[in-house]
Amino acid sequence: MARYNDAVCRLCRREGQKLYLKGDRCLSPKCAFERRPFPPGMHARKSQFRRTSSDYQQQLREKQKVKRIYGIMERQFRRYFRFALRSKGLTGATLLTVLESRLDNVVYRLGLAQSRPQARQIVRHGHITVNGRKTDVPSYLVKPNDVISVRPESRSRAYFRNLSEFAGERAAPGWLSMDAKALQGRVLARPSRDDIDIAVNEQLVVEFYSR
Ligand code: SF4
Repeated sequence: MARYNDAVCRLCRREGQKLYLKGDRCLSPKCAFERRPFPPGMHARKSQFRRTSSDYQQQLREKQKVKRIYGIMERQFRRYFRFALRSKGLTGATLLTVLESRLDNVVYRLGLAQSRPQARQIVRHGHITVNGRKTDVPSYLVKPNDVISVRPESRSRAYFRNLSEFAGERAAPGWLSMDAKALQGRVLARPSRDDIDIAVNEQLVVEFYSR
């Protein structure tokens, strides 16, 4: 499975905003975007003032931003887009709803991980169950009434023992509920666009793929 393995802070600097890919570090003064809020590369500082942004560039950047926030590669992202295109409703909003329903994102939203990349790793390592069954596929799409828990065998690990003490600190969005002590969450409903707090213009993503 293809994965992005380069320095992730470059992605925030490239997109010109914080994508929160490194957990606590993103909120600290060590954040690379805080220290160097300009695109990566030798000549980027000069060129960022020269460059005028075409419609295509704006659409491309918005598409890349969404992909990078959710940690998805191009092929899979196109698959999600085609699914959203075939579905009823607004394509852009549906696309975000599907991305938001991925298991790795739900683990992050429940506060079981500090970032989406970390949530993905927790899922891949088999620490999560959905409705009591071990599920190690980050792209699994959750449905209303699904129960997401930390696997009983994993609860004794230091990470999850510490987590049960502060997992409730980050409030779960309205479409999820979380029992921090039990390390267990439930999907109350499908997420709507209003539930998704990421600052992107999904219409530009639709326009990018509709060229
Ligand atoms: Fe982005 Fe987080 Fe790195 Fe800051 S620390 S640049 S928000 S990934």
